[in-house]
Amino acid sequence: MKLHILRCGSMKVSPAVPYGNQISLGGSLRELLEPEQNRVELPVLCFLIEHPRGPILVDTGWCREISPAGVYDPKAAAAVLPRHLAAFYRPSLPAGEAIHEQLAALGLRPEDLAAVLLTHLDPDHVAGLRHLRGAKRIVLPEDEYFWSCRTVYKARQPQSLWIDTPMERPYYRGSPLGPNHWAIDLFGDESLLLLNAPGHTDGQAAIRIPCGGRYVLLAADAAFSPRNWREDLTPGFGFDEARQRACLRWLREAEADPACAAILCSHDPALQPGELRF
Ligand SMILES: [Zn+2]
Repeated sequence: MKLHILRCGSMKVSPAVPYGNQISLGGSLRELLEPEQNRVELPVLCFLIEHPRGPILVDTGWCREISPAGVYDPKAAAAVLPRHLAAFYRPSLPAGEAIHEQLAALGLRPEDLAAVLLTHLDPDHVAGLRHLRGAKRIVLPEDEYFWSCRTVYKARQPQSLWIDTPMERPYYRGSPLGPNHWAIDLFGDESLLLLNAPGHTDGQAAIRIPCGGRYVLLAADAAFSPRNWREDLTPGFGFDEARQRACLRWLREAEADPACAAILCSHDPALQPGELRF
């Protein structure tokens, strides 16, 4: 199995976002108002899986309009995102890193993808959707869509980025796998599973891809890097700390499982763009 790590820009955030170890009002204010010199730059990663059913893209990164010149542009960011989210993320997207630019460099058009999977609806994962018109299947767990449309998530997940995009919205079903024992079997043959990994958002999906008797996990934002589960340090950006901790326990067990070939997180600075083979 071949998997491409695609860096679709970066975000410059408070260190409390990946490693705050609690969710609180004070923590949220700090994440929003953190001075420039304290911030850390984290990659925004997407993954392209060379699957027997065709290429499958996981998440979409930032869109070109958010960073036209490839650097953080407060005005451009605030034209795509609400002002508070532009200030929270400080997004940048260097030339060639937008998802359609990277797919073109690999000789792929959106319509060549077997599926686009959205792990959750935070803007760093879905802003690039606008570059994927023509994709045959865009898949989002209904549980993510439901809460994002109706609750406090509205302040965090601007609907303008995704509400008009036609999507398949399957429900999770009971499963022996994953931290919440809920899964979506994308093709009905267990060749790719979306596992509910709540805490960062309610409906977030981690992705499990079997490969030759083993499996690879894409953890989405259940952890920002292995440091979260190795030090039992929850990300400060999330919705439910207890559920975040359950995800970290699950990832710790997976890392110790000889059948687990790799766990890849969406914002891990140690992951280099390029190809991995399993
Ligand atoms: Zn993210």
